[in-house]
Amino acid sequence: FPQAKQISLIKNYRSPQNILDLAYKFIKVNDPDRLEYVNKINKKLIAQKKGAGAAEHIHAHTLDQEVLKTIKKILEILKKDKKASYNDFAILIRANDAANPFVKALERTGIAYQFLACRGLYSKPCILDIIAYFKLLDNYHESPAVYRILNLSFIEIPYEDIIKLTQYSHKKTKSLYETIQELVLVSGISPSAQEKITFILDLIKKHSLMARKSAVSELFVGFLEDSGYLKYLIEKDDKVQIDLLNLFYKRVKTFEQSALEPTLKNFIQEINLELESGEQGKLEFDLEQGPETVKIMTIHGAKGLEFKYVFVVNMVDKRFPTIARGEQIELPADLIKDIKPTGDIHLQEERRLCYVAMTRAKKELYFTSAEDYGGMRKKKISRFLIEMGYRDKTQNTKHKTQNTNELLEKKSKILNIKSKISLNYLPEHFSYSQLTAFNKCPLQYKFAFILRVPVKGKAVFSFGKTMHAVLYDFLKNVQECNASQQENLFGLAAPKGRQDQIKINDLIQIYEKKWIDEWYENKIQKHEYYKLGKKIIKNFYEEFLENPPKILRINNAIALEIPFNLKIGKRALYGVIDRIDDLEDGVAIIDYKTGKFKEKLETEDKEQLLIYQIATEEIFKIKPKELVYHYLNDNKKACFIGTEKEKEKLKEKILSEIEEIKTSDFKPTPGWQCASCDFKNICDSAER
Ligand code: SF4
Repeated sequence: FPQAKQISLIKNYRSPQNILDLAYKFIKVNDPDRLEYVNKINKKLIAQKKGAGAAEHIHAHTLDQEVLKTIKKILEILKKDKKASYNDFAILIRANDAANPFVKALERTGIAYQFLACRGLYSKPCILDIIAYFKLLDNYHESPAVYRILNLSFIEIPYEDIIKLTQYSHKKTKSLYETIQELVLVSGISPSAQEKITFILDLIKKHSLMARKSAVSELFVGFLEDSGYLKYLIEKDDKVQIDLLNLFYKRVKTFEQSALEPTLKNFIQEINLELESGEQGKLEFDLEQGPETVKIMTIHGAKGLEFKYVFVVNMVDKRFPTIARGEQIELPADLIKDIKPTGDIHLQEERRLCYVAMTRAKKELYFTSAEDYGGMRKKKISRFLIEMGYRDKTQNTKHKTQNTNELLEKKSKILNIKSKISLNYLPEHFSYSQLTAFNKCPLQYKFAFILRVPVKGKAVFSFGKTMHAVLYDFLKNVQECNASQQENLFGLAAPKGRQDQIKINDLIQIYEKKWIDEWYENKIQKHEYYKLGKKIIKNFYEEFLENPPKILRINNAIALEIPFNLKIGKRALYGVIDRIDDLEDGVAIIDYKTGKFKEKLETEDKEQLLIYQIATEEIFKIKPKELVYHYLNDNKKACFIGTEKEKEKLKEKILSEIEEIKTSDFKPTPGWQCASCDFKNICDSAER
């Protein structure tokens, strides 16, 4: 690329200049091994924000005091900055094990926090429960797994009864499962424990049968629902645990998609192998999801994020920078192609990491350290702090610091001022399906979109997804195939004249590849749906031959499954449009439906496409001529176009519904909707 130009992006919109300068001065210690130095370019960042922010070093005598000083500082800032919330604070650690003292202290002071570890899913109690149950189903005589299930807190088997069971099993050299099977022979078991153990045995029986023919994911949801686990977590409003269960559910789904034989046995084997190799299970978090909390996370995890106030803690020798671990297999110099850096590679890498931590701060940056971390020797402050120009305050440390009680007092005063702060998990963005769920029943909305309770799938959804995916793939392939020859200024010309080259078998092949083989109640139902799918494909193909659609192009991309984020007032509504066709004198917005054809559309029926019309006009600046619900099952279409009045009315309605969601207490409104509600099995208010 002879005309390529090198451009350095040096405008920074995040941090104040003094923090950028400090970070720049610090990272220059890596010279001459930095790209900027080698290539002789200027990468000194220029703040686009006016004013300076704090960049301080806080030193304490002991680790406890370092933690307390950090919390004290957070409380001081909260008092000073009336707009600040817990979300504005991040405590950045070099390694996961440094989090514990901060977690405990925040817990004691009652400050809402989240420790966002990147790994460790498999060691979370609720996941250990699920793994134990799966192990038990795989092998009844896996006594530690049976023991864990007997101890499930929501089942409430008295501890004394469990002791009696384990003693019996030990004495008679029987597995714990054999013991609970011959419960009548174990003396002294309370009647309530007997009842609960019988319940567990029934569960095992039911799920063992299920394990033979159902997917692991079905078993997963089955256990959560049938055991009462989900209900228990919902009653406690324990979103954190429900989120973890959702993560594990994703893990199960990944296994099902990748395994040759996705059986329960193979799943357990896979998890066991991961655990043996030291894998702890990936944790993901969504910072946009509430609640308002101080975040504790590793610097690695904070890459790409930003916070108003950043605390980089434990800035002491051997903690940050860490000690270099020797290469396990040293490579002969001749095999290394790249030019080796001249300095200490590990130290340079750690310095880069520290630079990342520093440049997360939008307003203030604090480094904290202590000299006593419980070892024999006093810790020196990190050499990085010295490189930044901070003095070693070890000699001057005053040992008087506040204790937790004083902090609690301080905190309660501050929280009075900040009484607005609540554990708010409401989503920032809304969708049409969210609004529909809320209108049906606010509790259903809470289950689905706030708690995100894992649910069993439905045949109708598997089928709907399959058909959407098939039509998307087919049309995309056809259009891309023709794009190179028939592209014009406004979009793709229809593939008329060449359509006979595309055979029905092409479409059937896509159908077979995309078929989602999940959540069908039985083989007969699956077969019926499969047949229906083929009929849909046949109809679609015939129409395609007759009248091949000309699909619009937006920003040079084919207008299929187009995501949008529509601003309505101060709110945002997101969605995905299935397809937009170019009709020459306007466009048609098409939404596929796999439900029953509706001859006459009521106002509510029109809303989804009306939203798409508003989005197309306001975001893509395209005026639709027609809105079309394409009912695939009957191959019929319902067409209309929204008037200005209808659009304005809908916008007002959406805004008022979102406000209602924001202030709702999510009381259930049971009724006809309970019959098709995903949560009827765990909802106490369900109309049965
Ligand atoms: S079962 Fe009925 S009351 Fe309960 S959440 Fe669902 S719709 Fe609401």
